Amino acid sequence: MTETSYSPAPLNPELSAKLRESVQGALPASIADLSALVRIPSVSWDTFDPENVVVSSKAVAALIESTGLFESVTTSRAPIEGDQLGHPAVLAKRPAKNGRPTVLLYAHHDVQPEGDEALWETLPFEPTVRGERLYGRGASDDKAGVMSHVAALRAIHEVVGDDLDLGIVVFIEGEEEFGSRSFTNFLAQHHDELAADVIVVADADNWTTSVPALTVGLRGNVTFKLTVSTLAHASHSGMMGGAVPDAMLAMVRLLASLHAEDGSVAVEGMTSREAEYPEFDEAEIRQTTGLLEGVSLIGDGPILSRMWSKPTVTVTGIDAPSVANASNTLLPTVSVRISARVAPGQPAVEAFQALKTHLESNAPFGAHLEISDVDTGNPFLVDTSGWGFAEGLAALAEGWGETPVQTGAGGSIPFISDLAEVFPEAQILVTGVEDPDTRAHSPNESQHLGVFHRSILSEALLLARLDARS
Ligand SMILES: [Zn+2]
Repeated sequence: MTETSYSPAPLNPELSAKLRESVQGALPASIADLSALVRIPSVSWDTFDPENVVVSSKAVAALIESTGLFESVTTSRAPIEGDQLGHPAVLAKRPAKNGRPTVLLYAHHDVQPEGDEALWETLPFEPTVRGERLYGRGASDDKAGVMSHVAALRAIHEVVGDDLDLGIVVFIEGEEEFGSRSFTNFLAQHHDELAADVIVVADADNWTTSVPALTVGLRGNVTFKLTVSTLAHASHSGMMGGAVPDAMLAMVRLLASLHAEDGSVAVEGMTSREAEYPEFDEAEIRQTTGLLEGVSLIGDGPILSRMWSKPTVTVTGIDAPSVANASNTLLPTVSVRISARVAPGQPAVEAFQALKTHLESNAPFGAHLEISDVDTGNPFLVDTSGWGFAEGLAALAEGWGETPVQTGAGGSIPFISDLAEVFPEAQILVTGVEDPDTRAHSPNESQHLGVFHRSILSEALLLARLDARS
């Protein structure tokens, strides 16, 4: 999206060839270690057994230890609030020598729940290779991110050995999929250990399985519960219907006011961001999402602008009687969960205020509204002008043999803006091991093994490049 001003020196070809060989030779072991991580059902949601996240943190610590590069590898928890503690994160550090920079490698070892097991073709926590892909919950998001760090570190240790001067911090979080609730406290507690010149966040997407991406923009998010009430109690819909409004009618009309006819967001005060976008084929998005015959896309402007740089408002859940339990009743109260995305450039709190004002001023029939369980995460724009970003682009280009696409992302990784706030001097590279068919968070999540290989190699090349900088 923006020009980089720095052009990095080429890496020593002999070093590059050795790293390539080391990564390739270790690939079967890297896949085996990834599979072992997938077997641990480290779901970080409140209603799941937290012990699995503890087991997974220990497994990750052992893997980082196995790279032989670190003075210290610890697992620790930071408080969320009061004495409630977050899930364990893994932190490892080796200090920089001879004036070299320090790099922080981030990934997360917790996963989303498996969801409806019947929708999985193979068991979610039984890693299974089919074709070029490894299937399982967390096989990609983000245990392949964890393993790409570990495998790149092993390669750099094997090839460069004790001559390595680069400072390295590894930070593997344990609750990214549950809102990173202790993240800011963890940053505060470990501020000095985490400080780095370059931060590599391995938790995003690639352009395709053969073209890498560096993510330069992320949308923020706003979620909350909206409750609409019109009656103090339920009434017979045949007797009273037609004269008094039920909460469902009020809710449906209120929700309809959030979007224009073409499906774009119609909330005054939720902003969009102007930028340039790569070409994107409508057929591809139809195929990826399984859009049904005859169903149109929504929104306006370039397709990628709709996903990267414009807001969305989605209803993701509703509390109302089920169809099986539906009786002839005027419902007094209905609740929904609203999940909105915020365009880069707008603070999430400001977008929430705009939504709240819109809902309050559009409540039909004077219905009563209640907004609760509000959660916000800020969007993020990467500064693409620094040397760290240029080294990242160069390493990806060499590791993949293709020029990386600088992309936005529709999804949100709110902790990245937290990181940027705490370490404003650090250059942040948002890389990843996913591709458009990964299905993170969904049934049949999988990791493309070619992408895994190229991601490891690119990261090893990046570490070598950073190690060569004085
Ligand atoms: Zn993730």
